Amino acid sequence: MATGKINVSVENIFPLIKKFLYSDHEIFLRELISNATDATLKLKHLTSIGEAKVEYGNPIIEVKVDRENKRIHIIDQGIGMTEEEVKKYINEVAFSGAEEFLDKYKDAGKEAGIIGHFGLGFYSAFMVAEKVEIISKSYQDAPAIHWTCDGSPEFTITESDKANRGTEIILHVAEDSTEFLDDSKIRGLLVKYNKFMPIPIKFGTRTETLPKPEGAKEDEPAPTQVVDNIINNPNPAWTKQPADLKDEDYKQFYRELYPMQFEEPLFHIHLNVDYPFNLTGILYFPKLTNDLNIQKDRIQLYQNQVFVTDNVEGIVPEFLTMLRGVIDSPDIPLNVSRSYLQADGAVKKISSYITRKVADKLSSLFKNNREDFEKKWNDIKVVIEYGMLSEEKFFEKAESFALYPTVDGKYYTFEELEAKIKDNQTDKDDKLVVLYASDTEAQHSYIDAAKAKGYEVLLMDSPIVPHLLQKLETTKEKLSFVRVDADHIDNLIKKDDTAISKLSEEEKEQLKTELEEVISGKGYTIQLEAMDSQASPFIITEPEFMRRMKEMQRTGGGMFGMGNMPDMYNLIVNTNHELVGEILNTKTAKKRERLINQSLDLARLSKGLLKGEELTKFIARSYEMIK
Ligand code: ADP
Repeated sequence: MATGKINVSVENIFPLIKKFLYSDHEIFLRELISNATDATLKLKHLTSIGEAKVEYGNPIIEVKVDRENKRIHIIDQGIGMTEEEVKKYINEVAFSGAEEFLDKYKDAGKEAGIIGHFGLGFYSAFMVAEKVEIISKSYQDAPAIHWTCDGSPEFTITESDKANRGTEIILHVAEDSTEFLDDSKIRGLLVKYNKFMPIPIKFGTRTETLPKPEGAKEDEPAPTQVVDNIINNPNPAWTKQPADLKDEDYKQFYRELYPMQFEEPLFHIHLNVDYPFNLTGILYFPKLTNDLNIQKDRIQLYQNQVFVTDNVEGIVPEFLTMLRGVIDSPDIPLNVSRSYLQADGAVKKISSYITRKVADKLSSLFKNNREDFEKKWNDIKVVIEYGMLSEEKFFEKAESFALYPTVDGKYYTFEELEAKIKDNQTDKDDKLVVLYASDTEAQHSYIDAAKAKGYEVLLMDSPIVPHLLQKLETTKEKLSFVRVDADHIDNLIKKDDTAISKLSEEEKEQLKTELEEVISGKGYTIQLEAMDSQASPFIITEPEFMRRMKEMQRTGGGMFGMGNMPDMYNLIVNTNHELVGEILNTKTAKKRERLINQSLDLARLSKGLLKGEELTKFIARSYEMIK
C-alpha cells in the first residue's frame, strides 16, 4: 500500500469547492459521466488506430445507487488508469485543476452565470461525497489499483483484484447530500445532463414484454425479459447528416427533446458547420401560442452531447430565442460570464451564422411551397417581424419572404403589394399610402369604408407592428403606413380630392359654428370635408403619428415622454351627407343639439370610444327615440 499527500497549497480544498458551487452540487454526476465517456471514447480511438490491442465491443457506463451503504457507483469500460496515471492525472492534474479553478473564479461571484458549468472535473465528486474511491484497470497490461481519499489531501493506493478493464468510481455520500441517494433524483439528473451522451448509460433494469411464441394459448401470458434500462439516446438526430434524416425523424426528435409538447413544430433547420467554428444542431419553429410552455421549453445548449444550459442568451440572437431545439458546439467558451460571451468574436460569428441559416431556410420554404408558408405565417410572423427590427442582415434577407396579409386573407410580399396599389394609393406627394388595420372587429366600419373605395387594407396585428412600420418607412423611400382609422385617408389619397362640396363657404361657416357650440370642450378638432354622400356623416380619426408613438411607448423603445400626451381625435364631418344638411337646416337649437350629440355618439361608438355612463345614456336615449 502506498500513501501520499496531494501537493496542493490550499490545505483543504474540498470545503471550498463545496461552498463555492453551493447551488450547483448536482453537476458532479455530469462531470463523472463525462470522464467515463471520455475514457470510453479514448479506447474507441486507440482500438480503431490499432494502438490498443483489445476488443472494443459495446461498452456502456453504469450508474448504481446503493442506498443502504450510502454509495453511488459510476462504472465504465474505458481505457482505465494505471497507478502512475492515477498519481499523475488524479493527484496532480485534477487537483491542480481544481485549485486553479478556485483561484480564477473566487472573486467572480455567482452572477457570472455559466461559471460552474464546466471545469471542476473529477473533484466535483467531493461536493457530495465525504470519501471517494477509484478502482481502475488500464487497457494496458498493469495491475488494477484502488485509490481512496477522504477529502483531506491524503490518499492511499493499493492493488485491486478488479479483473475487467475500466474504472469504477465509488462515492460515499455525505450526510448533507443524501438526496442524491434517491433513485428518482439520479434518474432526473441523468435525463437532464446525459440524455444525448454518446455512450449508453445504464441505470437499473426494466422488464420487457416479448412476442408470444407461435402456437401459444390465448390465456398464456406473454414472456418477459429483464433488460438494461438505458437512459440516453447515444445518437441524437443532430449528430447525423441531414441527408440521412426524414421529416418524421426530426419530429420524433422534437418529441424526445420536449416530451410535454403535444403540438408539432412547424418546421426545422439543421445546423452543421465546421469552419471557422464547430457547430451542429437542430432548431425548430414552434407554433407560438400564449401558453407558458414557451418559457419552459427553450433551446438547449450542449457541448459534445453534454447538456450545458437552456439559457442561450448571447449565443443565439435574441429574436430566435423563441425557437426550440439544440445547439452543440465545442467552441463556445463556457467558463466565462455572459457579458464576456457577448463580446467574444467566435460567439458573434455563431450568432450571425444562425441568423443567416434561419433566413435561408425561411426563404427556401417560401420559394418551394408558398401556399404552405402563407398558412404558417401567423404562427411565425412574430419571430420574423422581431428579427427584421433587431437584425439589419435579417431585415435585408426578409425582403424576399416577409408577408403582408390583407384583411381578406391575401398575402403579398412588399414588392407585390407595391405593384398592386401604386396606381390607386398614392398621396399628393406621390408617396405610397399603405392602409392597415390592427383589429378587424374594432375597426370594422373603417375597413368597410376603405374597401368600398377599392383600397387594399392590410392586417397588421402583432404588438411590435408600430416599430416595424417605422422601420419600413425609414428604410424605403416615399412610403407611409396609415391605419384605417387615422387622419382621414381621403386627405392622403389624391384621387379623392375631386369630390365637390354641396355646401357654400357661408353654409360651411355656419355649420362649423353650430357644431362647435355643441361639442366644444369635448376635445375634438372639427374638420369639414366634402366626401361621397354614401360615406358616414361623422367619422372620428386619430393622427397616425401620435397614436403610433404612444403604442411604441407601450411596447418599449418609443419616444420619450409621449405616453403622457392626451389622446387626440379629429371629428370629420361629411358635408355632402344628407344628415349634415339637415343639421344645418334645423332651426330649433334644441333639436339641432340632439342631432349633433346623437351623431357624435354614433361616430364614437364606431371607433369604440363610447363607454360607461355615456354608453348607458346613449342607449336609453336611442330607445326613447325609436319608441
Ligand atoms: P479533465 O477531465 O477535465 O481532464 P478531471 O479532473 O475530470 O479533468 O480528470 C482528470 C484526468 O483523470 C482526466 O483527464 C483523465 O486522464 C483521468 N480520468 C478521470 N476519470 C477517468 C476515468 N473514468 N477513466 C479514465 N481516466 C479518467
